[in-house]
Amino acid sequence: MVKKILIWSIFIIIFTSIFRNFHSNDFDRYRINYSTFLSEVNQKKIRSVIIDGQEIYVTKKDNSKYCTSLPLHDSNLLTHLVSKNVKIQGKNLEEISFLWSVFISWFPMIMFILAWIFFIRQIQISGKGAMSFGKNKAKIFKKNEIKTTFSDVAGCDEAKEDVKELVDYLKNPKKFKKLGGISPKGLLMVGQPGTGKTLLAKAIAGEANVPFFIISGSDFVEMFIGVGASRVRDMFEKSRKLSPCIIFIDEIDAVGRKRGTGLGGGNDEREQTLNQILVEMDGFDKNEGVILIAATNRPDVLDPALLRPGRFDRQVFVPLPDIKGREQILNVHIKKIEISKDFNSTIIARGTPGFSGADLANLVNESALFAARRNHTSVLMDDFEKAKDKIMMGPERKSMIMSAKQKEYIAYHEAGHAIVGKLVPEHDPVHKVTIIPRGNALGLTFFLPKTDHLSISKKKIESQIATLYGGRIAEEIIYGEDFVSTGASNDIKIATNLAKNMVIKWGFSKKLGPLLYYDEEILLERSSLQSNNFSNYTKKIIDQEIKEIIDINYLKAKKIIEKNLDILHSMKNALIKYETINTNQIDLLMNRKFKME
Ligand code: ADP
Ligand code: ZN
Repeated sequence: MVKKILIWSIFIIIFTSIFRNFHSNDFDRYRINYSTFLSEVNQKKIRSVIIDGQEIYVTKKDNSKYCTSLPLHDSNLLTHLVSKNVKIQGKNLEEISFLWSVFISWFPMIMFILAWIFFIRQIQISGKGAMSFGKNKAKIFKKNEIKTTFSDVAGCDEAKEDVKELVDYLKNPKKFKKLGGISPKGLLMVGQPGTGKTLLAKAIAGEANVPFFIISGSDFVEMFIGVGASRVRDMFEKSRKLSPCIIFIDEIDAVGRKRGTGLGGGNDEREQTLNQILVEMDGFDKNEGVILIAATNRPDVLDPALLRPGRFDRQVFVPLPDIKGREQILNVHIKKIEISKDFNSTIIARGTPGFSGADLANLVNESALFAARRNHTSVLMDDFEKAKDKIMMGPERKSMIMSAKQKEYIAYHEAGHAIVGKLVPEHDPVHKVTIIPRGNALGLTFFLPKTDHLSISKKKIESQIATLYGGRIAEEIIYGEDFVSTGASNDIKIATNLAKNMVIKWGFSKKLGPLLYYDEEILLERSSLQSNNFSNYTKKIIDQEIKEIIDINYLKAKKIIEKNLDILHSMKNALIKYETINTNQIDLLMNRKFKME
């Protein structure tokens, strides 16, 4: 790009300077008519003239210059000029103007040739440019090039189990067929981004030691109609030559969306591409030994034709890993780094609910970076904690300036959360408390679930609500009701939502019973009249019930803190001194074994 700009600007500079030279010499700036010139000659104002054919370049006695043209051939001019003492020069501009004229007449041609060279070179540079539209963009791993095996894929044992027979098939498709097996054709991997679909597909190729084509659905889609289809044809042709092999199409939804929905407009190209895929899959006798694996996280938007028998008729679900799975994935990835002895993958796995395999790989990588930045010789558990917090909560904002008073507010607030969290039943264990601002939060209390929560009990939610108010209550008790800060706004939001869902969604209210109120779907189904009646009568009770849940648990939390005021004070002191306290320190504080004055 820079080169391009450079070349063009050089052109422009040359071009304009040529024109300047040519057009605007000193004489050319003023053009005066011939009669004025003659009268000036008569007034003896002229020092010299240069005569160039019809053109006369005039220098006056005051050194100003202009030019004029002879209207007709004036044979008396020379004698007249001599009589008025004007110096006459005949300038032979022939030579120069010949060169100029050659240059001028060739100039467009030269420009054209240069532009052509330039264009050709651009195409050569980009390689896959204008000349190779129809070629597929698949990346091909040859036999023996893939080192990925099933042991690299962790935490999705069922998915692995599901695809194992593909390996047997790929190892010897002919034998498989002799025994009467129906050869598998297409397999759809369904799962969120980063759960290891690509990795698993690659591992199949690695285990079976067959070539692996990888392409993204969006690589097929081009602006020009027919390009995608020809790419599909090209890819299948290549793969047949290398069979047995695997073709992996990532993000199949980019081409495989339902046809004819009119979404996205201008669908012709996409539909042609999809049709071509279907055609290629159906011509299966030719495709022996070619297995198509496609990945998506939206199987519901795919065109049903893709899922018909003989096409992508088998689905493998690759879920987000559970606690055990996360632990296994971590154990796979820490092999790549120098890890310290204190590392405990269980604790990290517990603290990373919702992380995908890719997130965990990233976490291991970030931890190694933290360790390097802090000059550790191996990656410590603390590096992992730091990396995890950064990924989950945003980076620490240590530079944020806070007064001692603000710090004290935050310390009391977080200690309040921690103490209530410690003492209510069924609550997740408190992992650490910090008053270092991070992301949007001024301080944070971390809880570490022992297992992934698939469903939660009523008791546990009530305890969560109580804990959420712990921060605000601590401020209220220490500073008085009128000096409570706004720091609890997010706590209030979460607690209110929990209480609301308890009433309208989870059936935890005795008065209203286990019914679904105000669900969007219900609202849509009921006629407006009914929903009006429904809301008028019930809304009041719903509001009352929500308020009651909050009140009860608020009071519960308040009693807990009032009973443990001494712990509140010493935890606040510990927080101000250390900024972050961990499980052990919290336990000591809670058992009153670690008094901070
Ligand atoms: P997807 O194709 O589902 O979006 P990828 O297979 O591209 O996810 O995963 C990206 C990276 O995340 C992998 O290269 C790997 O390092 C890591 N990863 C994801 N899932 C797993 C897993 N189950 N086991 C080990 N590593 C994983
Ligand atoms: Zn809070």
